[in-house]
Amino acid sequence: MKLSVIGCGYLGAVHAAAMASIGHEVVGIDVDERKIASLSAGEAPFFEPGLPEILSEGIASGKLRFTTDMAEAKGAKVHFIGVGTPQQKDGYAADLTYVNAAVDALLPYLSPGDIVAGKSTVPVGTAAELAPRIEAAGATLVWNPEFLREGWAVQDTIDPDRLVVGVPSTGSGSGDEAGSGSGDGSESRSSTGSGSVDSNAADVLREVYHPAVAKGTPFIVTDLATAELVKVSANAFLATKISFINAMAEIAEVTGADVTQLADAIGHDARIGRRFLGAGIGFGGGCLPKDIRAFAARAEELGRGESVSFLREVDAINLRRRERAVQLVVTALGEDVVGKKVTVLGAAFKPHSDDIRDSPALDVAVRLKGLGAEVTVTDPEALENAKRQHPQLNYIEERDDALRDADVVVVVTEWDEYRRQLSPEHAGSLVADKVIVDGRNCLDAAAWRAAGWTYYGMGRP
Ligand code: NAD
Repeated sequence: MKLSVIGCGYLGAVHAAAMASIGHEVVGIDVDERKIASLSAGEAPFFEPGLPEILSEGIASGKLRFTTDMAEAKGAKVHFIGVGTPQQKDGYAADLTYVNAAVDALLPYLSPGDIVAGKSTVPVGTAAELAPRIEAAGATLVWNPEFLREGWAVQDTIDPDRLVVGVPSTGSGSGDEAGSGSGDGSESRSSTGSGSVDSNAADVLREVYHPAVAKGTPFIVTDLATAELVKVSANAFLATKISFINAMAEIAEVTGADVTQLADAIGHDARIGRRFLGAGIGFGGGCLPKDIRAFAARAEELGRGESVSFLREVDAINLRRRERAVQLVVTALGEDVVGKKVTVLGAAFKPHSDDIRDSPALDVAVRLKGLGAEVTVTDPEALENAKRQHPQLNYIEERDDALRDADVVVVVTEWDEYRRQLSPEHAGSLVADKVIVDGRNCLDAAAWRAAGWTYYGMGRP
């Protein structure tokens, strides 16, 4: 099938390359000329495992190309919208400028029967507002939220754990008749607009995702509002789970309890589960923080602010943990931070990514610098991005060089290079003082202590 993917960032570039890898003919479109030049040359403009391979394969096969020219979207059957929806500069709501601009730019190139599939994470109600413009062009708008995890984006795109497609509701807009199923293909719908392809929209998306559908991946067809809400509520739930365990870490810290043992113990309950119960410096990145804020802002607009007011607390707990890590470093340095050498292991918001958007790791580094420490940051993949955003910090590529002569070491991104491949003995031979703050609770505290280190964890004695 001929597809266009508009917006070629972390989501869109992977989506375009992954769709080509499963046999579609794909054009990726972005306004960023540098990104398009890099993608056209088969080079991933960011770090994502597996992307370089499918990118170069796609380009070599002729199935995948990239352009800044929106006119090249013409002729595609499905147009995916994957542009950014960042937090507004002066508020918590999502900034929909890019989504609106992308849709406006696409409109002249839509043909009757085309499908526009929104993948960007948007406030509930966005699709309903966009739909009339798209229907006026004889096309149908569906919402197909994306659940990929950076670091596993290629795999998650080709073989997702579920697919969700919101299609326009007939008449009143009630979600009741939208139906949901897991691949039975029985939904029958008619369009509020042209009446041409709406009933088939979900089937077209099934065809797009044919390998996943064929293996029985849950395929949920619903209305537009539910599809939009599925995405933000999933992120709200994950953020809440992380902040829940971080709240327990705060209680552990004043009682002498150990939050990692607590998480293990409650995690054995299948209803709770151990995943996403890692206490530490909390979540960051280009999704969770802005998505929970945008959700809270949208709920306020809908007059239901109280329904998700707990998300403000989730956000507050999350941000407090960054400050807690800073406090631990200050304590570790005997309250005397000025001029002390602090080595920060990690800059990316999580391992297997070079993404530094709202990175707790860099936030901790910047705060320590603000207190007068001499901060050196290292990271296997994110240094270039970090340098651009925070030129005031000192960056060293080689982990061991960064560790040399440190007065204190802080682990803020749980890369294997720090978690598994750094022995306390080897690290001990490099630093000035064997003091470590484990901001991710990812080290074996007993092993580090046995090697003579003073170890500080998050919510652990
Ligand atoms: P990103 O900033 O990496 O990419 C967005 C891209 O859109 C940029 O390359 C930008 O140049 C381009 N763009 C902006 N305006 C454009 C326009 N008018 N026409 C064409 N291109 C335009 O962001 P991202 O991380 O890829 O996120 C994109 C969306 O996907 C967001 O809504 C995000 O919440 C959602 N999402 C992201 C992830 C993730 O892990 N990154 C996962 C699920 C959902």
